Amino acid sequence: MLSRPRSTTARSTVARTTRGFATLLLAAAVAVSGSVSAFAQNVPIVRDAEIEALVRDYARPIFKAAGLANDGIDIVLVNDPSFNAFVTGRRMFINTGALMTAETPNEIIGVMAHEAGHIAGGHQQKLRDQLERAKTMAIIATLLGAGAMVAGATTNSRGLAGAGMGVAAGGGEMAQRSILAYQRTEETTADRSAISYLNATGQSGMGMLKTFSRFQNALSLSGTQVDPYRISHPMPQERIANLEALVKQSPYVDKLDPPALQQRHDMMRIKIAAYMQGQAAASRLMRKNPGSLASRYGEAQLAYLYGNLNAALVKTSALIKEQPKNPYFQELRGDILMKANKPKDAADAYAKAVSLDPARSGLLPVSLGQALMAIGTPDALKKAVVQINNGLGRDKENAVGYRYLAQAYGELGNIPAADLATAEGHFYSGDYRNAKIFAMRAQQKMKRGEPGWLRAQDIINYGPSGKTK
Ligand SMILES: [Zn+2]
Repeated sequence: MLSRPRSTTARSTVARTTRGFATLLLAAAVAVSGSVSAFAQNVPIVRDAEIEALVRDYARPIFKAAGLANDGIDIVLVNDPSFNAFVTGRRMFINTGALMTAETPNEIIGVMAHEAGHIAGGHQQKLRDQLERAKTMAIIATLLGAGAMVAGATTNSRGLAGAGMGVAAGGGEMAQRSILAYQRTEETTADRSAISYLNATGQSGMGMLKTFSRFQNALSLSGTQVDPYRISHPMPQERIANLEALVKQSPYVDKLDPPALQQRHDMMRIKIAAYMQGQAAASRLMRKNPGSLASRYGEAQLAYLYGNLNAALVKTSALIKEQPKNPYFQELRGDILMKANKPKDAADAYAKAVSLDPARSGLLPVSLGQALMAIGTPDALKKAVVQINNGLGRDKENAVGYRYLAQAYGELGNIPAADLATAEGHFYSGDYRNAKIFAMRAQQKMKRGEPGWLRAQDIINYGPSGKTK
């Protein structure tokens, strides 16, 4: 079902064909209105409960040490092979390329510590405030646009300005360029802050040093494209030398990541390789540690992805036996059973995943809801509505989830609720025109002043410069 795009331009068809979808759901910006550039329509967001939880676990202690809000950090994974990471306030944008490049958690944690240093230092605060108000899709278009512009890959800055919405108001190109504009003094401050956060959490700065040294030595980690991160964070030789001195002074310089965290990191890298790059890329990583849990997880995923469902099920059952409390093994089991057209068994597996998930991902209840929809009885459909609403309550920007919700309501004959769910889906995809059309349709069949009617009114009232809620 789930295709694994080779390019970074995940098409909307990918998201549309994900009934019985797998762990990695490509929630591409579907049905973006004509006012948004073609570029934004291909905004490649990757949704995955396991990876989001891991990256949040990396960020949490660092953000706490930095005195930043340590709850409710939204992790936005961007399917792009270049290296980039950027934090607005509530949202951390991180490229799959950055996660794939990092061999240890410490390398990513070091980059996060540096980003936290920029936030704590108030660097580019005005831009961050603007981005914080913008929709996720628009920000990614802007961030990717910035990288693309630097690389000279596209000069469609007018289109990108449109994609930037409020961010880009009154000079999109300027807003994009200013993303690239950390000052050298700011880099020094952020490095120093990063070391203090790493020390406070008992972690080494070696990963950060390794990552930044690599940027300093190589023009690009990802081939032809210049990594946006390297452009936005100037890395002269002197900065690396100063950083190295600071890192080596730390009492934690030789501290390694806990083995369990390293294992989750290895699983994440193999997963990204398997789903996004295919068998060869995943096998390359698995060969480094054959027989490890991460490699066997990779084998189960590849079996699933390439349609060897019996083998996938056997391998996944063995993994579950080894880690019975791992929610993502249950999730994979659910994905396999959905593909095998066994929605009842799949629903059981997803229900286990939901109950085991300490990170309370909004994605897992939506998967459970889909399995219930596939069962198709009125009772299962009603349960599906509950589960999908539960998932969307945890994660209201999941545009794909609204489409399943609309479908479930539609099959139950609740047309106004289906229209409102469709409106929400368009709204969170940034397609305000269609969002309003469906919100008005929903209102016509609703009682004035009831909760659904009020939410529809919020969507109708939403203006390009306005705010909702
Ligand atoms: Zn920086």
